[in-house]
Formats: sequence, C-alpha cells, structure tokens
Amino acid sequence: MTADGSRPGLDADARQRLIAQARQRPTPLRAVPTPAPVRATAFDRLPDYDTLTKMRAVGAMMGVANPFYRSHDGRASATSMIDGVEVINFASYDYLGLNADPRPAAAAHVAIDTYGVSPSASRLVAGERPVHGALERALARHYRTDAAVVFVSGHATNVATIGELLGEGDLILHDSLIHNSVMVGAKLSGASRRSFAHNDLGALARLLAENRSQYRNALVVVEGLYSMDGDIAPLPGLIALKKQYGFWLMVDEAHSLGSIGATGLGSFEAFGIDPSDVDIWMGTLSKTLGSTGGYVAGSTALVDLLKAQASGFVYSVGLAPAMAAAALTALDILHAEPDRAATLQSNAQLFLDLAAKAGLDTGTAIASAVIPVMVGDSLLAAKLSERLLARGLNALPIIYPAVPMQSARLRFFITSAHSPAQIEAAVRITKEERDRLLAEGFGCDLSKMMDL
Ligand code: PMP
Repeated sequence: MTADGSRPGLDADARQRLIAQARQRPTPLRAVPTPAPVRATAFDRLPDYDTLTKMRAVGAMMGVANPFYRSHDGRASATSMIDGVEVINFASYDYLGLNADPRPAAAAHVAIDTYGVSPSASRLVAGERPVHGALERALARHYRTDAAVVFVSGHATNVATIGELLGEGDLILHDSLIHNSVMVGAKLSGASRRSFAHNDLGALARLLAENRSQYRNALVVVEGLYSMDGDIAPLPGLIALKKQYGFWLMVDEAHSLGSIGATGLGSFEAFGIDPSDVDIWMGTLSKTLGSTGGYVAGSTALVDLLKAQASGFVYSVGLAPAMAAAALTALDILHAEPDRAATLQSNAQLFLDLAAKAGLDTGTAIASAVIPVMVGDSLLAAKLSERLLARGLNALPIIYPAVPMQSARLRFFITSAHSPAQIEAAVRITKEERDRLLAEGFGCDLSKMMDL
C-alpha cells in the first residue's frame, strides 16, 4: 500500500475499473434441476465395520477378551506392569533392552530442555536441530553410505520413499509377506506392482525375465527380518539378480537392525555383503533404537531427492529432537556394546530349542528378535494370549487380516534383556495353556463362524 492507501502500480483508470467490477451484480445462476438427495453411508454400515462387528461378536460368544490395546502402567522392557500386575513381556520391540536403559532417555531429556518438545514444523521451514544432522550422519556411517535422512514415522518413510521414486511406467516387485507400508507406498506411486512367493528367488527371477524389459525403472523390496515370521531375506541371491536384471534393491531393516549379524549391525553383517550392493537401506527408529521415526540411507542424490520432494518428509513435521537424540544414543550403544546382540540371539536360540522339544511350531523363524508360535485359528490364538496373561506372560496374537485366516499365531519379541529363566517360563506356560485349550475343545473355524 502507498501512503494514501491506494495499491502501488494501479493507475486511476484501473482502480475505477476494479471498483466498477466489484459493484456489478453477479450474473444469476442458470436454474439447475435439484438432484435426488444422496446420503453419505453411515460408518457403521460400511462392510469393513460389519466384519469387525462380527469378529467381536464371535469373540464375545466364545468368551475371549479383546487382547489388543492392553494398558501398561510404566516402562515396558523384559517385564511390564499391566493393571498393576508385573508380567514377563514379549510384546515390545525393545530388542536390545534400550527402553529400560537410562542413557537414551537422558539424551531425550537434554534435547527437550534444549529445543523443547516440538520440532515446530516441517524441517524445510522450521529448520533443523543439530541432532537431526548428527543422527543422519551416524546412520550413513552405519550403512557406509554417502547420506541418510530421518522421517517422523517408519510407516511414512516407506510410503513417501516408494511413492516419490516410482511412478507410472515403473515396476515394483515385493515379497508376498512385505509390510503394509510398502504396499501403501506402491499403490501411491502408480507403478505396476507384483508380489512373489515369500523368499522365492526363482519366482522373482521368472517375474523379472517376463516383465523387466517393459518398464523404465524397477524396484525390488524385501525385509531384512520378516516381522510376522522371523525369517530373513536371501540377500546374496537378490544382489545377483539385481546385477542381471538391473533394478533398485530396497531392504527394510525395521526388525533386523540390532537383531541379526554377529554384533547386531543388521543384514549386511549377517551375510557379509558390501552395503553398497543395496540401493536403499530403509529402517525404523522404533524397534531396536527404542524411539520413533524412520530412515533411509543411500547415495547423496537419493537423499537429496527425498529431502526435497518426498511427501512424508516435505509436508510432514520433522522428527522431534528428543526422539532423534534417543535414537542417536541407542545407535551409539548398539555399536559400543555388541554383546547385547549376542545375548538376544542366544535367548532366541534357547526359545527355539525349548519350543522344538515342547512340540511348538515356530515356523521358519531364525534365532533372532521375532519368533511366532503357530496356532492356526484366530480365536484360539486370542484365547491363548488371554490365558498366558493370566499366568504372567504378555504375548500378543497375530490374527486375520494381518496374516491369512488360518495362520494365526502368538508372536514373541525376544530381547537381550530377557533372562534364560523367563524364556524357559514362556515356552513351558505356552505349551501347557495351548494343550489345555485344545483338550477343552477350544479352536473353531473363525471364517465359518463369521458367515453366521
Ligand atoms: N517396516 C516394517 C517391516 C515394520 O514392521 C514396521 C512397523 N512395525 C514399519 C516398517 C513401520 O514402522 P513404524 O512402526 O516405526 O512406523
């Protein structure tokens, strides 16, 4: 505005024209026929809600309490307090026991005192805090890559990274057991998507032979350690295929960081491969590192691009400084105290050995952080979890739709903080309660009951 209140650059004629325009009456709208009223579907009429209600009704009929959203009274690690009762806890990602360690929490306190709780806005506009850069440099050193970037959520990391890098005319191939965040990112990207049978390199090679040449860029995504089955991706074979067919290889290290490899460095250590053979190392700060958030480590150009354009980075708030500080301290501890990973792995081996003797089916799990005990039926899994809680064990059921209807299981997260006595109790009580439930005739085909 100028001193007289007029807009600079507008001469008197232009001003008059604008005033005249503003005074003009709006042209009356042509009458349009009123359409018949359309009602938005009430949420409780949606088919998914119907399925949910039926599942709950069947659970209630069979006397099974909802096993989810149990409230913990304090810090969860090898043990936890639920409703005032101490239980042995197998339901936390705390693979190296760092949620019970005072050092990451102390680092988070210092960060809150220094920067406050909030990261304020997207890092693009709110700017960085030095701890963001320090954590990213530490992650890049860990994977021996040029650069790394941290996101506010692990799920958003996959969605935004895949959604940014691929598009129409590209191809995404992923393991059939891949995490939901990869599927959501693939859908968002608009690229063609195919899944191959779990860990089946032959199936992947066939898909590549048939399809690769028809697409511009191709991405193959696997998990270092699978979150529901506890087995690992065959990385050397994948790298050989990559050299033959030319695709980007992305490895989700959410569960493998800290838990596989002799000192817990993850998939590259477990297989003794050169980390530069993987194009995109993705992981979360929420498992071993005991914080929240996600990361991508890779080339400078990859990280530059994500920081400039990836939706979940540019249009979302930055990682809270306290979360970054806790994750950085946890990563330092992972490197400085390699025995933690060895303890976790020997606890897991003990679990597998005892489970095999007890006749419990642990599927394809290796001696690491995730061990399922296969149950089959979803209601049996939920009831078993309830009985275990009554005997002082917290292990959660994984049921449909997270796994196929008849592949329900109890999932045990094993940590370095568990004692051998706690592992022994877990297997013994699980076997006793499973056998009791089967003897009581518990176990029914949930899919049939849902069609009531
Ligand atoms: N990838 C995998 C393999 C996961 O299991 C998870 C969640 N458990 C994620 C990504 C998402 O991570 P976050 O929970 O930290 O958002």
